[in-house]
Amino acid sequence: MSSTLRVLPLGGLGEIGKNMTVVEYEDRIVVVDTGLRFPTADMLGIDLVLPDFSYLRERVHDIEAIVITHGHEDHVGALPWVLRELGREHVPTVYGGRLTVAMARSKLDEHKLRDAPLEDLDPGHEVALGPFVLELIHMTHSIPDSCAVALTTELGTVLVTGDYKFDQTPVDGPPADVSRLAELGREGLLLLCGDSTNADRSGFSPSERDVGPHLEEVFARAQGRIIVTSFASNIHRVQQVIDVAAELGRKISLVGRSMRKNVNIGRSLGHIEIPEGILIQPQEVEDWPDHKVIVVSTGSQGEPLSALRRMAHDDHRVIKLHRGDTVVFSATPIPGNERAVNETVDRLYHIGCDVITARDAPVHASGHGYTEELKLMLNLVKPRYVLPVHGDHKRLHLHAQLADAVGIDRDEVFEGENGLPLEIDGRGARFGDREQSGMIFVDGVDIGDPADVALRDRRMLSADGIFIVVATVSEQTGESVAQPEVIFRGVPFIEQADALVRDIRDEVERSLAAAARDRVREIDLLSQELHDDVAAFVYDRLRRRPMVLPVVVEV
Ligand SMILES: [Zn+2]
Ligand SMILES: [Zn+2]
Repeated sequence: MSSTLRVLPLGGLGEIGKNMTVVEYEDRIVVVDTGLRFPTADMLGIDLVLPDFSYLRERVHDIEAIVITHGHEDHVGALPWVLRELGREHVPTVYGGRLTVAMARSKLDEHKLRDAPLEDLDPGHEVALGPFVLELIHMTHSIPDSCAVALTTELGTVLVTGDYKFDQTPVDGPPADVSRLAELGREGLLLLCGDSTNADRSGFSPSERDVGPHLEEVFARAQGRIIVTSFASNIHRVQQVIDVAAELGRKISLVGRSMRKNVNIGRSLGHIEIPEGILIQPQEVEDWPDHKVIVVSTGSQGEPLSALRRMAHDDHRVIKLHRGDTVVFSATPIPGNERAVNETVDRLYHIGCDVITARDAPVHASGHGYTEELKLMLNLVKPRYVLPVHGDHKRLHLHAQLADAVGIDRDEVFEGENGLPLEIDGRGARFGDREQSGMIFVDGVDIGDPADVALRDRRMLSADGIFIVVATVSEQTGESVAQPEVIFRGVPFIEQADALVRDIRDEVERSLAAAARDRVREIDLLSQELHDDVAAFVYDRLRRRPMVLPVVVEV
């Protein structure tokens, strides 16, 4: 049995998203978070990106539990895939706060994983998991029930903060449990794995409660309908919109599946209060005068199928936007989503809407603490070692500098990478040998690896298009018996297309004649040669590499 404590990040380091950290002691494992990431523009046709968790597949029988810090996709989104994969052999219990578990359950239901073992764990309660004692610590973030995870072993305690800010006036529930954090510090914390998302923003983040009055100001100015978009999971934000609506005597309509779902879950757990009679169905919006309505919608990230994006493209089933509507983006784009958001905003202007973003008015507050809050965390828990997590390399580095600034020895701060385990024993801490890590792509419901052929094909098609070459050959002789057909799609900048097609036909004939001379009869071989000859010819002419698809028909 190894009495080395190992902390292996499988995602969330050197990137924004797909957070997943493996904590190991005496050969037993607790996994903290199973997050996903949304694809970047070059991942054509890929829906989601998961962390490569093959490491866990090999160690499935050593897993004591999975703990989820909060209900955001970058922390819980990969859970259905992780449970489905690991569940063939052993289904670990999943722990989290009540809302987190409720959101995880609804997600697993959608994936038809109805009997996954999920356990609510209230902050402050302890659970023994093999050589670990697990405790959740209440934190504040842009979703209720966010927790830090403390895992205590004989060697010491590891604290994984999850996403957090120190909001002194949260909209609902108590502020972060700073006294428990300070207690951990007094007991002597071994390792802090801290959120680095806003390590580049100085000062303190504004309180969520500050957003309400700014929303009220913006709403009060609007003459017509108001459409507000935010993260569907930002239940406190939705609460504040509802409060302002009540104040201004406007009705509220919730639009978008995840918005309705999350508000329902939040309502059933008492995180959101909706005054009697204020909610109206989307179908009823048209029945009310414009100045009496607020629509709360999904789509703050410009997601392709979201309600707001549909409205912006005049493609929504029920809500039709028109001149005089005010659209408020009560969110900022996650890095990578800027283009989609800008496009949506521009469409809205084209319709004639007024658009208010967080740049125009303080209608958004980040859920992640700024530098002073990261320093506060470091000073409260006084860790022996620090491993910054949740951030690109720049933010991990800035977080390490903050640790340095509060007096933690530079040798005890580790700037890590996905797949690089931090190993701690009685003698000290150091990085161990690299383990497998990376990305898994989800395309619909199937999962595959990044070298996936389909993705390469899509990239090729999107860049250079496709040539389809149909050759008809004699079964007996292999000679060409009809004029080859050449079809192309999406090939850029063909100036003399007719001439090129003629030349490609000649090339096909040449290639077939050569193959016939060499007595190549096997269709697969013939196709291969045809492909190579035509591809080389096209490259020679166009300096591009479109996909070449030969079809050989025998007659
Ligand atoms: Zn979060
Ligand atoms: Zn996060």
